[in-house]
Amino acid sequence: MNHKSSSINLDNLRHSCAHLLAAAVMEMWPKTKRTIGPAIENGFYYDFDFGDAKIFESYFPKIEDKMRNIVKSWTKFERVEMDVKNAQEMYSDNPYKLELIGEFSKEGQKLTVYKSGNYDDLCRGGHIDNPSKVLQNFKLLKIAGAYWRGSEKNKMLTRIYGTVFPSKQDLDAYLAQTKQAKKRDHRILGQELDLFSTNPLIGQGLILWHPKLARTRNILEQYWREEHYRRGYQLVFTPHISSMDMFVKSRHLTKYINSMFPVMLHEYIEGESASDYHSEEVLKPMNCPNHIQIFKSRPRSYRELPLRIGELGTVYRYERAGVLHGMTRVRGFTQDDSHIFCTSEQVISEVRGVLQLMKDVYALLGFKDYQAYIATRPAKYLGSLEMWEFAEKSLKNAASAEDFDYKIDEGEGVFYGPKIDMKVKDSIGREWQLGTVQFDFNQPASVETTEEEIEEFWNLKTFKKLFKTKAEAAKYLKKLGRGFNVTYIDNDGKEKQCVMIHRVVFGSMERFFGILIEHFGGAFPVWLSPVQAVILPITDKQLGYANKVLEQLKANNIRVELDDRSEPLGARIRDAQIQKMPYMLILGGKEEQAGTVSVRARGGQDHGQIKLSKFIEDIKKEIDGKTNT
Ligand SMILES: [Zn+2]
Ligand SMILES: [Zn+2]
Repeated sequence: MNHKSSSINLDNLRHSCAHLLAAAVMEMWPKTKRTIGPAIENGFYYDFDFGDAKIFESYFPKIEDKMRNIVKSWTKFERVEMDVKNAQEMYSDNPYKLELIGEFSKEGQKLTVYKSGNYDDLCRGGHIDNPSKVLQNFKLLKIAGAYWRGSEKNKMLTRIYGTVFPSKQDLDAYLAQTKQAKKRDHRILGQELDLFSTNPLIGQGLILWHPKLARTRNILEQYWREEHYRRGYQLVFTPHISSMDMFVKSRHLTKYINSMFPVMLHEYIEGESASDYHSEEVLKPMNCPNHIQIFKSRPRSYRELPLRIGELGTVYRYERAGVLHGMTRVRGFTQDDSHIFCTSEQVISEVRGVLQLMKDVYALLGFKDYQAYIATRPAKYLGSLEMWEFAEKSLKNAASAEDFDYKIDEGEGVFYGPKIDMKVKDSIGREWQLGTVQFDFNQPASVETTEEEIEEFWNLKTFKKLFKTKAEAAKYLKKLGRGFNVTYIDNDGKEKQCVMIHRVVFGSMERFFGILIEHFGGAFPVWLSPVQAVILPITDKQLGYANKVLEQLKANNIRVELDDRSEPLGARIRDAQIQKMPYMLILGGKEEQAGTVSVRARGGQDHGQIKLSKFIEDIKKEIDGKTNT
């Protein structure tokens, strides 16, 4: 949705609406204890402790009426400074607010209360100017349980979600979109169309790809591989587990530890661990160190650069169970990953190459609308200021050269380098972050281990298990150092450090397929459909002809099924529609005599009787053209 037309700050609008919700709740259930009410993506929520009162979504219309009534008297949000003692008195019966007051005052912040009409709330600010006018187009969406401060040790509160937009039009569009999204939910379609599953025996966040979706993935991967070879990438395979040493050197084991599965300590295997090195394995959370080792497998000359190493590389990252979601948030996934090793002179053309690839791939899959965001240097960073400036400038130049109307995410870069993130809109207008082009100043370098880093490692439980003393751990860490020293020999005979760029186009196959299922509403275009046509003989008399048609289609590499169940034709047509089959070929006596097929398309269009040879010619054209219908 486009909010550019409005000058209202959406976060402020949404947070203001959370105040309004709380005001209504406090009037309707005066014993309620309020907590916090932030703006979130697409709306806001407010967490309440309702005590013994039970709240249901069926109350929403009444609460919304109350909100509409209250807001009439809200001409502004008035900021009132307050000392700790007054604030504590004001919230003497609310342990949640008292906890917050205690923390704010410890941090030395001024306490502020915002008044609007008869309502006031402890708050740090961030409101709109004219609530009675602007705060109109809101809707309460759902109720959920939420622990106070997200911790299971605390009390479960009642969270009410809502949304609000500057105009009724925007609100209606958003509500229509969420309704659409519900129908397209990939977790539901995944089951209905027999695409994928998860299983507690395998573990949460680990996807089983069923034959149909696996077929589609194979086709998309085949396209991916061909496209990469064509663009000068070299594709590789690397192991799923790696020695811990590698991720010590890369520093993932400290910087990324919360996202990694635990180190596989060798409690059952003896004699594998040498005294100086530690071969205990980890599941790789990233492919980069492996690709670096392929680059480093022999000395490299400037003549070999740029070197683009690519892999559909499977990685494993620990995510809390609470955030796992279908295929889009998982613990094991395959990245369409590549690492480009090049000289600084080659950077702009390399980034442009990646952006071109993204444009082509997104267009092919019907993602017409995308936005590039360039994330710049954060407060804490590795590498020199000079490197950062060079890299940021290169990203901007490359994006401009490719006609990307980019936006800047100030200070949002990762500590080891700036990046471009591509946010892509799907067919119902939702934005998804897909591709990334990311500089890396960390891994190609070669730096001695610092005392601070030794301390960081020594704080890990694994290190206390592996080493008897901190000195022993320090010796190991110093021997390994940080970074992989990724270099090439330049034409002046000198060894120089490579520029290293990480990039993905889809992100991960799992997440991308979750998005793709929703984007297409489960109806993959013909070239990606697991089954492209289904043959429906009207009676058993046409079985012989049906088998002939089946063989001919198969001989032409068309993915086809024969539905010869003794169900009535109407029921079989309905099933084919539910399964979102691109084409149904209906065969009766007339068709058999004429050597034709009666073609019905997924959308319901009746193409009538067509010569079998003509149908084959047409569908092949559609498949080869990767037509996006
Ligand atoms: Zn506020
Ligand atoms: Zn990488």
